[in-house]
Amino acid sequence: MAPAPQSRSQELINVKLLLIGNSSVGKSSLLLRFSDKQWLPEDEASATIGVDFRVHKMEVKGRKVKMSIWDTAGQERFRTITASYYRGAQGVILVYDVSSRESFEALPRWLNELETYVPAEVVKIVVGNKLDKEYSRQVPTEEGKAFAQLTGCLFVEASAKTAVGVTEAFNDVVTRIIDTPSLWGEENPKASSKAAKAAAASTGRLRTPDSMPGNIDLSQTLDDEESVGCAC
Ligand code: GDP
Repeated sequence: MAPAPQSRSQELINVKLLLIGNSSVGKSSLLLRFSDKQWLPEDEASATIGVDFRVHKMEVKGRKVKMSIWDTAGQERFRTITASYYRGAQGVILVYDVSSRESFEALPRWLNELETYVPAEVVKIVVGNKLDKEYSRQVPTEEGKAFAQLTGCLFVEASAKTAVGVTEAFNDVVTRIIDTPSLWGEENPKASSKAAKAAAASTGRLRTPDSMPGNIDLSQTLDDEESVGCAC
């Protein structure tokens, strides 16, 4: 007898999330903390190039979700985030460092860039990281919250070091995505199949600065993207 067809609630939902924000705000550390439950001591972390990609499965509102979470892997240091990095994302995590006003003031620029590359309905969360550095805080919580509200983003403060707020940040984004079926449902099969392909091509450390892709190339097709052999 043929197996019974899966009900919709049993189907795996593929979601692509991105981390963006200035260099050194803690993007890789947040991803490591969330996905691997790991924290690298400050001196070791600075020696790493970036985590760049993780796949994480979780259940949200009774739906199975497979998240592919992409880190910039240091591309932002060269001011060259590629268009393919943004393509097909359903959620974006904008990170600043609560002890660096400069990183907070860079958020409008990151949002501007997002407007160019992702549809408006993509879920965005502003994450004020390094909450453990309360003693050197430069951005008050209220200011972060107000900015997030003004720009239609969710908001949370977190610390990759102590793990406070980290799961919450990822959960909040995914929950909002699940509440927005136009981002992943049958209405948008392309987005979810791209995320699935990305997830299938995943794992581990994939790039070094030498192989970092060059400037934004909007003429690049999905096929081009796959032929370069990275996870993006
Ligand atoms: P990225 O360039 O945005 O990916 O930032 P990294 O994850 O490489 O972190 C940059 C530096 O900040 C490293 O030395 C980390 O150890 C440190 N860092 C990251 N997150 C935190 C945090 O929550 N608290 C503290 N105190 N340091 C952090």
